[in-house]
Amino acid sequence: MKSDIEIAQAATMWPIEKVAKQAGFVSDEVIPYGKNTAKIEINEQLHKNENGKLVLVTSINPTPAGEGKSTVAVGLADALNLAHHKTMLALREPSLGPVMGMKGGATGGGMSQVLPMDDINLHFTGDFHALTIAQNTLMALVDNSIYQGNKLNLDPRQVLLKRVLDVNDRELRHIVVGLGGRTSGVPRESGFDITAASELMAILTLSTDLNDMQRRINKIVVGYTYDKKPVTVAELGVAGAITTLLKDAIKPNLVQTMGHTPTLIHGGPFANIAQGTNSIQATKIALKMGDYAVTEAGFGADLGGEKFLDVKTPLLGKHPDTIVIVATVRALKMHGGMDKKDLNHEDTAALQKGLANLGQHISSMKRYGVPVVVAINKFTNDTDAELKMIEDYADQQGVKAYPADVWGQGGQGATDLAAGVVTATEQPADFQPLYQPDDSITTKLNKIVQVIYGGKGIELSPKAKKQIASFEKLGWDKLPIIVAKTQYSLTDDAKQIGKPEDFVIHIREFVPKLGAGFLVAMAGNILTMPGLPKDPVANHIEIDNDEKITGLF
Ligand code: ADP
Repeated sequence: MKSDIEIAQAATMWPIEKVAKQAGFVSDEVIPYGKNTAKIEINEQLHKNENGKLVLVTSINPTPAGEGKSTVAVGLADALNLAHHKTMLALREPSLGPVMGMKGGATGGGMSQVLPMDDINLHFTGDFHALTIAQNTLMALVDNSIYQGNKLNLDPRQVLLKRVLDVNDRELRHIVVGLGGRTSGVPRESGFDITAASELMAILTLSTDLNDMQRRINKIVVGYTYDKKPVTVAELGVAGAITTLLKDAIKPNLVQTMGHTPTLIHGGPFANIAQGTNSIQATKIALKMGDYAVTEAGFGADLGGEKFLDVKTPLLGKHPDTIVIVATVRALKMHGGMDKKDLNHEDTAALQKGLANLGQHISSMKRYGVPVVVAINKFTNDTDAELKMIEDYADQQGVKAYPADVWGQGGQGATDLAAGVVTATEQPADFQPLYQPDDSITTKLNKIVQVIYGGKGIELSPKAKKQIASFEKLGWDKLPIIVAKTQYSLTDDAKQIGKPEDFVIHIREFVPKLGAGFLVAMAGNILTMPGLPKDPVANHIEIDNDEKITGLF
């Protein structure tokens, strides 16, 4: 069987100018970046176009069996185009940390991939690097301000921001900076986050233009003074420099799928520690340029889905017209307790048990008042009996499920799914956000836990309780909440798969992200700098003198 990269290398790409033209961009909106990629400069005129329909692809809780959300998003977009619905895809940029570690790429798989797959998964157009430099410049300026007399009275023990790298490097989670004597800085405890978790990444993906970006950067809370007052970037006076470093990264990147569907890949926050969706700008362009915009939110519907609907949707000013929940027979059997090595065998008992995980996501997504469909991403060993069980279960929950072979056949394998999505987008929607800005922090969290995760409620650490009291005084309690939690479980414990009951979510602390415009609630032992596994992907990657890469995926 061919690997994803072998399939991608054998595929033909159109020159990016042709993709752009087909999509309807005029030439001064397109800044070519090599042969197969372009940056898009948004033209005022574009904003006057009518919006197309928005399709949000999300999934059940991921398992090591693989769900294939990006693969389905790509295949669905290609299928919609094949059915003569003008469609644009809007996805996130991959992070090199997981690419070298364990996750696999973010460009789909099999016959449903975005190209050039290797470039996109490696340095792409440098957006992540620009963000890394911007964040680290900001940190150097913060530490310099402390070193040069500390006129902002920043308490070095209460600096909230961290340096970042796009590398999974557990050694850097907790470090001491400023060692080396009087001329080498002020020693303090600190650490690194992965770039995808940085506030600047969240800001890049939520900003509507450079002015909005600068306004948000000014609001970033750097840390607290000795008398516990927040200090912002505005007081540091460097938002202009940081925004300047991001002037190109803010422009969405245009590429194509294997079926030549125009695809914007822009911004890459993870959904377990950040808001998990691509940029507002890219989604807006996709909506204006196509009859259908297909986009994806990271990990399961409990993480990326909820964040898309409660954080991104209000800023986008447009709710999804249909939510597609991706499920696989294999992953549901794992949720039902089957061992990974046995997944190739039919097991309707395990599947029956695992279906409850899908059920939770169907009910939580239906709650938003938007039509929901299930996409069954077909694997070669799935049996007809297993596929039928999922279809029947979805029927009982009042939604339709469509098996799709996008991995084996590309868009051709998703004809029924595409038709089902079109029908769903024509149904009336009555979008209802989960919570209101005026709900208290605990009310917002309880709603997320009870309605979306199916749990009992929350348990706050003493630190989290104190933070809530101080945030209320500062008026920050009106902000939406990003729960940082494991993607593998509806609970905050990765081992509890399936559909756990009667659980509470433990909130250990909050991280205020005023520039991004939300509070991050850290649940369980989730980390913002991942580590590498025992046998990282990097152990298998090779390149020859003709730049032919193997082993990437
Ligand atoms: P997600 O977006 O849920 O993380 P991806 O779409 O990136 O998942 O897919 C992860 C991996 O699983 C890719 O390497 C892809 O080739 C593989 N994959 C996805 N769907 C299938 C399928 N139906 N059959 C075989 N492999 C698949």
